[in-house]
Amino acid sequence: MEIKQPELVYLEGENRCPYTWSTGETVGAFLTALRDHRKILGGVCAGCGTVIVPAVSYCEACASPVDEMREVGPKGVVMSWARVPEPFDDAPLPAPFRYVLVRLSGSDTSMVHVAPDDGRIKVGAIVTPEFREERRGSITDIKWFVPDGGQGGGDD
Ligand SMILES: [Zn+2]
Repeated sequence: MEIKQPELVYLEGENRCPYTWSTGETVGAFLTALRDHRKILGGVCAGCGTVIVPAVSYCEACASPVDEMREVGPKGVVMSWARVPEPFDDAPLPAPFRYVLVRLSGSDTSMVHVAPDDGRIKVGAIVTPEFREERRGSITDIKWFVPDGGQGGGDD
């Protein structure tokens, strides 16, 4: 008896799912401070005192709620970085640029952001955020982190 292989059927389509997300009290305060005051707020954990940036509602270390907001930075230290030499879909910047892991002054955690492709962006480098003129309450209200002292110069 011959077993007939089933025919594979493929359907092509596209799912789009626009949505509105309520940021909540803690993330909302973080984003509002970026937009309205060009300030970066950390959330302070009620349980262990960790200052978390970007601020979130609950501590990843001990699961306690964040019950206080505290200004951090604006300067920070590059903890790690990666160069993006080629463009890719939905990249945050035209290539080349760098992803950076920045620990802001007064923060106990590091945040991922972007930086220009500048040779001064290295582990241990001091960087400062450059805010966009038009801000909308988003992490991208910080355009990028630039080497302390400004842009320009510096090669690998
Ligand atoms: Zn904690």
